[in-house]
Amino acid sequence: MTAPLPAPLPAPLTAPDTGAVERRRVTVRGVVQGVGFRPFVFGLAHELRLSGYVTNTGEGVVTEVEGERDTVASFCDRIAADAPPLAVVESVSHEPLVAQGGSAFHIQPSRADGPRRTLVPPDTATCADCLAELTDPADRRHRHPFITCTHCGPRFTIVTGLPYDRANTTMAAFPMCPRCEREYTDPADRRFHAQPVACHDCGPTLRLLLANPNGRPQAAPTAPAPTAPGPTAPDPVAQARRLLADGAILAVKGLGGYHLACDATNTDSVAALRARKARGDKPFAVMAADLTAVAELVHLSDAERALLTGNRRPIVLLNRRHDSAAANALADAVAPGSPDLGVMLPYTPLHHLLLGLADDPPGPRLLVMTSGNLGGEPIVTDDAEALTRLAPLVDGWLTHDRPIHVPCDDSVARILDGEELLVRRSRGYAPLPVPLPFPVTPALAVGGDLKNTFCLGQGRHAWLSAHIGDMDDIATLAAFDRAETQLESITGVTPALLAADRHPGYRSGGWARRNAAGRPVRAVQHHHAHIAAVLAENGHDHRDPVLGVAFDGTGYGDDGAVWGGEFLLADYDGYQRLAHLAYVPLPGGDAAVHRPYRMALAHLHAANLPWSGALPCVAACEHDELAVMARQLERGLNCVPTSSMGRLFDAVSSLVGLCQHARYEAQAAIELEAAARLHHPTGPDADRGPDADRAPDAPHPTDSPGYAFGLTAPQPDQPMRLDPAPLFEAILADLRAAAPTALIAARFHAAVAAAVRQVAALARQRHGVSTVALSGGVFANTLLAHACAHGLRTDGFTVLRHRLVPPNDGGLALGQLVVAARARAAG
Ligand SMILES: [Zn+2]
Ligand SMILES: [Zn+2]
Repeated sequence: MTAPLPAPLPAPLTAPDTGAVERRRVTVRGVVQGVGFRPFVFGLAHELRLSGYVTNTGEGVVTEVEGERDTVASFCDRIAADAPPLAVVESVSHEPLVAQGGSAFHIQPSRADGPRRTLVPPDTATCADCLAELTDPADRRHRHPFITCTHCGPRFTIVTGLPYDRANTTMAAFPMCPRCEREYTDPADRRFHAQPVACHDCGPTLRLLLANPNGRPQAAPTAPAPTAPGPTAPDPVAQARRLLADGAILAVKGLGGYHLACDATNTDSVAALRARKARGDKPFAVMAADLTAVAELVHLSDAERALLTGNRRPIVLLNRRHDSAAANALADAVAPGSPDLGVMLPYTPLHHLLLGLADDPPGPRLLVMTSGNLGGEPIVTDDAEALTRLAPLVDGWLTHDRPIHVPCDDSVARILDGEELLVRRSRGYAPLPVPLPFPVTPALAVGGDLKNTFCLGQGRHAWLSAHIGDMDDIATLAAFDRAETQLESITGVTPALLAADRHPGYRSGGWARRNAAGRPVRAVQHHHAHIAAVLAENGHDHRDPVLGVAFDGTGYGDDGAVWGGEFLLADYDGYQRLAHLAYVPLPGGDAAVHRPYRMALAHLHAANLPWSGALPCVAACEHDELAVMARQLERGLNCVPTSSMGRLFDAVSSLVGLCQHARYEAQAAIELEAAARLHHPTGPDADRGPDADRAPDAPHPTDSPGYAFGLTAPQPDQPMRLDPAPLFEAILADLRAAAPTALIAARFHAAVAAAVRQVAALARQRHGVSTVALSGGVFANTLLAHACAHGLRTDGFTVLRHRLVPPNDGGLALGQLVVAARARAAG
């Protein structure tokens, strides 16, 4: 739409008290563009018989209404209360104006002037109305793979700038046909000003390309030419379904990138995909046709059903069933040995078509849907790149010509105590801002090197980016560059300072220093950032310090050691290390991360416990490696001291014989948590862990008495040390007594939770602390998070936990931002 800009808004005047008629200018800020807000205002004004206009500006939606005083007041009340489903109204402000007369109400073209404070909505799953049209043979958008309206469809991933109009989206290249244009301009229509609106006649088109024997793409023999689309042309989706049913692996273009898809029940296809992607044992996510299909695979609580079917559609981590035909039909290679299965429901019209409508021939009802990338590279969004980079992985491409402007991976969530806990915050959530409890100066926090996200902040808003990935290759750094440029442009934030992790070797920090251009780069300690993130997410604005419990795998400590089992007396401005897990040597750095038995051996060594040949961790270690390690640990060669809680979970997982080689991140800890959940198998929901709606008095796996850490204070001015040696001694005793693995795992979780309570009690006694904040990747362990929070609340503490910001390094940037950029009061 290229209509001329309207004349500048008249300056507000003080309205004289002229009786019944008044005029007001109302400004609505928040997520109000691209969500049908102007049509909603238009409808509301018509219903109330008010005159005036509504428009989009960089600031938000601005409307002027004129009519009887009571009616205008009613309009102002309802503009927030009755807002459309995807809108997030942050504020409504009013100014009185001089009445101008007139009876019409109209929608004016968007204005690009002024400060840009409008928020772009996230991409949203196909709504029920669009789904009904998709499946209705009489509807003109029957089977249209790009059906959308103001309540659903792509947003963030197609926006190239603000204001949010079709010209500033990747739909700019698709001029509307007359029928779509009529809907787009009809205030009574559900598609009024829906920017991605399209149909079979004017919208993007699908294409199916096949890899030839040399791996180079070629058009499928019966695929329609890109210039001759139409509902009667040979259908690329039908062909894709046939190929998937026959075992093919296809690259499927989605909202925020390409997926790799195959039939999740086809053992050969899934194994081939795993081999081609060099994926180790990391579980694949599964897209199921509907909730019935999901319920056959996993146990579901009401909260989990709600999360699966909501309009954000994350991958939800769920406890697997082993008692249904469908669960047994799932290929083993989907999630080998994993207690959980990541499941999502279709969220684009193309997904619904791919999984089949009611009148389609049978096809796969469960698809592996994993990010289209190799190893740790970022998800592929560019069509040309998809044809080259994904060529070694796929047998074909189901693609289309609507460009993806920025990558946005699927989000990953689980339910903790009936509430959502995001493990990866991306599609469906980005770029919704996190509201801050205080203003920040315009700043960019670059996050960490694993699970990278970055964060822009200004005023009381923090915008966390979509998931970028691990910053270990050029492609990820390039993706970071692109996403950072776009987020600056759609938020209007021009950072005056940068924040990065204190680790001197982090690539994210290197990016910050290279791109600083004279701006200060503030270094923030890793675990302080974790604690600040959970404080900010919870709107914590108190001056009193909290006890921050930061448990993760690795973070650069102030003394050069690898920290990760930290108790910090902290506020936003600083921290004091109150206690930490006692240091043990991390033998050979990364080698210990991939081989948990090395951590078990290091812990046994530190505890002066013998490496008995009967122990699984000793048996798992080659004779030569064992000899080298013994020498290494004896002399402290190539050993960095670590207080990592993540590595302690690895060590215990290995010691009890669960996991000796970690083939994906946190595998050993995940298997230890799963084992602990199997303890106390009483009651109907016993296998569902802390997430089940268990009775408050029902026994909990972590209620078991048993193990305890030692707690020592070496010097009065030194942090206290949590010593795991007594715990290892007790585990060895249980192993000798042939105690079940589930019991040992549950006792270990209980010991960690008890230690947290013990340190919290000391922090209250010595420092008057009344609030405990839990953060770090270890708290993605819902069994531990539940036990810690439950115990601390029993002891009278206020407990702050993550919900919509991940506890792992995906939330780190938010903490860096608030530490580095909090606007301090003058003087
Ligand atoms: Zn819709
Ligand atoms: Zn059309």
